[in-house]
Amino acid sequence: MDSAAAERVAAIPLTIRMSDNESKGNPGAVGRFAPSPTGPLHFGSLIAAVASSVSCDKWLLRIEDIDTPRNAAGATDSILKTLERCEFAWQRPPMRQSQRLEAYRDALERLKGEGLVYPCGCTRAEIADSAVSQTNSGERPYPGLCRDGVKPGRSPRSWRMRVDPVEVGFDDQIQGRYAQHLAREVGDFVLLRADGIFAYQLAVVVDDAFQGVTHVMRGADLLASTPRQIWLQRALGLPEPVYAHHPVAVGEDGAKLSKQHLAEPVDLMEPALAVRRALRFLNHEPPEGLTCGGMLQWAKSHWDVGRVTKARTLSAGA
Ligand code: GLU
Repeated sequence: MDSAAAERVAAIPLTIRMSDNESKGNPGAVGRFAPSPTGPLHFGSLIAAVASSVSCDKWLLRIEDIDTPRNAAGATDSILKTLERCEFAWQRPPMRQSQRLEAYRDALERLKGEGLVYPCGCTRAEIADSAVSQTNSGERPYPGLCRDGVKPGRSPRSWRMRVDPVEVGFDDQIQGRYAQHLAREVGDFVLLRADGIFAYQLAVVVDDAFQGVTHVMRGADLLASTPRQIWLQRALGLPEPVYAHHPVAVGEDGAKLSKQHLAEPVDLMEPALAVRRALRFLNHEPPEGLTCGGMLQWAKSHWDVGRVTKARTLSAGA
């Protein structure tokens, strides 16, 4: 965290940071919100912040800033400021993935030691050219070209995790049973990218375990990543959290409200309106007249995950 953000976090009164009421949804649960600092917090990520914070007892923040080319200047600061304005209560200083490279390296070394990963020399173009068709999810499974060794004359560019021809599934608290045949639908997936950056899939698994996260609540756009994460947890001997994927807010045109699409940042002048809208999106309606912090406390003690719409996307509404 830069020093300005650190100071702001330190300045938040303890009474706001430390939430003491128990989550009705998941007593004892440790949850987290893990924004990538690619831009200011917009309504879509506010939903993830609200849903994750009200559905656990202890709520942690993690700034997922390892994909450095995607980081936007000042975004971490701006996200934290918005969360403060919305009176969120996190319990430890936010963790930054850019300071955890050693842990990701260790995890990769362990997997290397067990022969579960291999170096890959393929370029994107070569993978796209290979005759493997796209799956329903739009992903093109890696065809395994380097599985038995990098082709002569080629140098390794990335490291891939081996997957087996098995189905990996889990019971999502919102979406129900979700399973993927990893070999068919994903293929051996990248853990260390050709540009030397650790992949999200590895970092998220190492960090969820390190932070003691027991419940992962996030947008349904990450549902299809979860079997890969479970596969890695099993390989690394890490506990599997309980997962819940809420619908992703979409605009009138059905497109996801994301920072890349420059969705409007949360209006710092009207934080209570934004928090109420996020709770409404999650089908929880707090009593009138509460502050942001009051609404979040109310939602925590009234949280019912069964009320959240079981859909991958949902209109952001008015
Ligand atoms: N950093 C991811 C994002 O901002 C979220 C990752 C996660 O919750 O697992 O979309």
